[in-house]
Amino acid sequence: MPRPIHAHIDLDALKNNLRTAQRLTSSRIMAVIKANAYGHGLLPVAGALAEAEGVALLDVHDAAQLREAGSRQTILLLEGFFSLEDLQLIAEYDLATVIHNEQQLASLDAYPRRGTLQVWLKINSGMNRLGFFPEEIPAVMERLKSHPAVRNVTLMTHFSHADEAAGVVTQLDRFNKLASGYHTARSMANSAAFLRYPATHGDWVRPGIMLYGASPFADTSAQQIGLKPVMTLSSQIISIRDIKAGETVGYAGLFRAERATRIGVVACGYADGYPRHAPSGTPLLVNGQRTGTIGRVSMDMLGVDLSNVAGAQIGSRVVLWGDGMPVEEVAQAAGTVSYELLCAVTARVPLGY
Ligand SMILES: *Cc1c(COP(=O)(O)O)cnc(C)c1O
Repeated sequence: MPRPIHAHIDLDALKNNLRTAQRLTSSRIMAVIKANAYGHGLLPVAGALAEAEGVALLDVHDAAQLREAGSRQTILLLEGFFSLEDLQLIAEYDLATVIHNEQQLASLDAYPRRGTLQVWLKINSGMNRLGFFPEEIPAVMERLKSHPAVRNVTLMTHFSHADEAAGVVTQLDRFNKLASGYHTARSMANSAAFLRYPATHGDWVRPGIMLYGASPFADTSAQQIGLKPVMTLSSQIISIRDIKAGETVGYAGLFRAERATRIGVVACGYADGYPRHAPSGTPLLVNGQRTGTIGRVSMDMLGVDLSNVAGAQIGSRVVLWGDGMPVEEVAQAAGTVSYELLCAVTARVPLGY
C-alpha cells in the first residue's frame, strides 16, 4: 500500500469553473496553466480546458508538448523566450509569445519564418515587473509593425492591485490611453480583475486561480462566486494517543496541552507541500468534521486535535484542503495564499483524476 496521501483533481469542477468564466464575459479566454497548472497536472488540465480559446504558461517545452498532444488553441508563453532555440520552437509549434524587453525584441531578427509570429507586447502600466514603459511603446510598435516575421500584435498588461481596495483604475487608465492609439487586440485581466472589473475584459481575459476553484479575494469566497474546488488534498490518521495536561506535541514542543487532549497524527508534512509555518489551529477536516492542527508540521506528518472529533480512528479520512475545506481558509491561517499551497504540492503526492 502506498502512503495514504493523495490529491484528487476534479476535472468536472474545472470545466464548471471555465463555464462560470464564460458566462461572465464575451471576451476570449486565455486559461493560465503555468506551474504545472497551479499544481493540478499540465496535460489533464489542458485537456479539460479545450473549450478555452487559449492557454498560457511559461515553459516552451511544455507548450510544444501541448501542441503535440493535439491542442489547436493559442498557446502563449507568458515570459516569452530565453534563447534562439526557444524561438525556433515557437516557429515550429506555432506558439504565441510575450515580448517584454529590448533583448527579446532584438533577437527577433533571427526569427526563422516570415509572417508567422504572434506577439503579445507587454506594457508596464505600474506593476514594474515585466514590460516596456508606456512612453517606449510607440517606437517598439513601429519596429514590430515593420518586422517581416510578425503576424500580429496583442497589447497586454498585468495589474498589481486587482484583488485589493486600490483596484485597477490607475493602471487601466494608462493602458487604455496608450492602446487607444492602435487597432490591436488587448488583454489585461487576471482572475481578480476579470471578476471585479468588467472594464478590464478587453479581447482576452487571463484567468488562473479562479479556474482551479479558489477565490482571489480575501472578502469573497469561491462558493459566493460559483466556483468549485478542483484539488482535494486528503490523507489519513496513522496514530492516535491521549496526552495529559502539560505534555507537548512534536518538534520544539510548540503545542502544550492545557487539558487532557486526544491527538492524531496525519500522514502529510512539508515534504508533501503542506506549509511548515502553518500554526496550531490551522483548519482541516477529520471524518468530515472540522478541527485544527497541533504543533509544528514535520517533514512527513502533522498533529491534529481529535478531542472533539467523533469516531476518529486510525485510517480516518483527513481533508487538508479542497472539498469542504476551502484552500483559501487554510492559506489565510498559514499566512500565505491559495496559489502557493496549490503549486507547492510535491511530486511524491500522487494526483488522481
Ligand atoms: C499568473 C498570471 C495570470 C493569472 O493570474 P490569476 O491571479 O491566477 O488569475 C494572468 N496573467 C499573467 C501575466 C500571469 O502571470
